[in-house]
Amino acid sequence: MSTIVCITCPRGCTMNIEKAGSDWTVTGNACRRGRDFAIAEMTDPRRTVCTTVRTTFKSAPALPCRVSADIPKDKMFDVMKEISKVTVSKQLNRGDVIIKDVLGLGVDVIATSDLLTQL
Ligand code: SF4
Repeated sequence: MSTIVCITCPRGCTMNIEKAGSDWTVTGNACRRGRDFAIAEMTDPRRTVCTTVRTTFKSAPALPCRVSADIPKDKMFDVMKEISKVTVSKQLNRGDVIIKDVLGLGVDVIATSDLLTQL
């Protein structure tokens, strides 16, 4: 049995999860989303990455960005490393792609601010 804390909402339910044949037994969750999260944590844990990327603009040296969908948890630091290699030199809009299909994971790194277009 594993004990995990649900991070799906601020309530933070502590849940126990255990394999029961081909299914899972989850207790301690206050809603269905907790069960889904617990099973995903056991089978395919995923996380988002929100950070900043370097730019060439002196008045805005860092641009907020994130991945376009959750990625495998064990790839988070690899993706951060890829983002650290990039320097944005164009005036991107929110949602513009900074890195297409990062590490072949099927998700993009996208801008989450249009601050460069306001310089
Ligand atoms: S189980 Fe439901 S109520 Fe509890 S933290 Fe997760 S999402 Fe929130």
